[in-house]
Amino acid sequence: MDVKGKKVLVVGVGRSGVPAANRLAALGASAFITDSGQQEKLRDELKKLACGIEVETGGHALVMKERFDLVVTSPGVPWESPLLAAKRQEGSEVISEIELAFRLVPRSWVAITGTNGKSTTTALVGAILKESGIPAVVCGNIGNAVTGEDAVFERDVKVVAEISSFQLEGCVHFRPRVSAILNITPDHLDRHHTMEEYAAMKSRIFINQSGDDVCVLNFDDPGTMKLKDKVPCRLLGFSTRERLKDGVFVNDGRIVLAEKGESWSIGDAKGLKIAGGANLENALAATAIAFAAGADVGAISRALFSFTSLPHRIELVAERGGVRYINDSKGTNVGSTLKALEGMEGKVFIILGGRDKDQDFGPLAALVRRRGDYAILIGEATEKIGRALGDYPSMDRAVTLQEAVGLGARLAKPGDTVLLSPACASFDMFKNYEDRGDKFRDAVKELMKEAAHAR
Ligand code: ADP
Repeated sequence: MDVKGKKVLVVGVGRSGVPAANRLAALGASAFITDSGQQEKLRDELKKLACGIEVETGGHALVMKERFDLVVTSPGVPWESPLLAAKRQEGSEVISEIELAFRLVPRSWVAITGTNGKSTTTALVGAILKESGIPAVVCGNIGNAVTGEDAVFERDVKVVAEISSFQLEGCVHFRPRVSAILNITPDHLDRHHTMEEYAAMKSRIFINQSGDDVCVLNFDDPGTMKLKDKVPCRLLGFSTRERLKDGVFVNDGRIVLAEKGESWSIGDAKGLKIAGGANLENALAATAIAFAAGADVGAISRALFSFTSLPHRIELVAERGGVRYINDSKGTNVGSTLKALEGMEGKVFIILGGRDKDQDFGPLAALVRRRGDYAILIGEATEKIGRALGDYPSMDRAVTLQEAVGLGARLAKPGDTVLLSPACASFDMFKNYEDRGDKFRDAVKELMKEAAHAR
């Protein structure tokens, strides 16, 4: 796509909007950017904008009146917002930053989506491709927008992109050579309304694929299995439970890759440095994705078994007096927290709560009861989770995260775990999940110091 001389509006002054506007301007487009937030709040992001980009903040009155050739939206902007609806009505095409990047560089994309495990799997795939000597740039929802990556525009590299359902909402022609859906469990239903709508959004990752393209799906997950028959290209599966003809699975404790009648042993699943059942799934997925993207089996094995977890995802923060303190602040929905708990040995003092996303906490409450864990509730969702737990006696409430950590530490015995895996968004009490995880770490460190002084 040639954007030279085109008038393009970018909606959202943020992590993907600013790089998109800068890229458009660099390519000769006449770029505009708008945000409903006030200038003061957006100051740091606005500073990153290149000269010549027209800006409207604190509302959209001016851009509402203008006609644009194209509108590029950010993941945080609701698809049905009045501005986007008006622009569509006027006949402007509205696309996501991912679709823009794809149209600008329609080369070899590897695209990874799913409710949980996206960042871990994307980082793993990047590590494997690096080990294989395949030039690749890891980007997207993981933190660095694709349009902001100069290497993607200047050199022949693979684009390994983590993609959220919000970004897929604005995809039209997007066609990765390798796609993956890791799992589909309830999340973001405040925005996608039904599971069907949410799953349909996820399926957009493979909808334009064909022929020799590859789609990787989780064969253990009912949500992704519902999409299996819709895949229009080659399919590779991954499973922790069953042997697959084409895909990656666990056999006698070993990770095995099978394709077109051949099979390779990748290594002993117990040798993975990333802990838990969820991460085993991520490792299997990354093996299939990287293999489809051209990685060799030796490199897969070397990279897989040396990879350590990303921060805020089942991250061991400290161990003291036989009690483990684990930060899983990125556990922002019921599905991820269920997986985290299922992977824990011994009794867990789990800190739950934050901003709810219209979730059903029933399955989580049932697991906490079944395992005999102790729930410490914080934040806006306290009452809703409390209701789901009903008359369960092993439960308490805390006003601050610090207080919650202190409570867990006081009650935990050797062999127990104090786990922050809130199953909710963080925005009620924190800037974001990183901030929440950092505060958890600080609270644990503080406790350790106090305990050391007291001795
Ligand atoms: P995402 O980018 O999709 O949010 P992350 O890799 O950042 O995924 O992990 C987010 C949360 O989900 C963490 O709490 C992590 O422990 C949990 N998680 C990671 N992989 C999986 C998986 N395959 N299934 C369920 N939960 C997972």
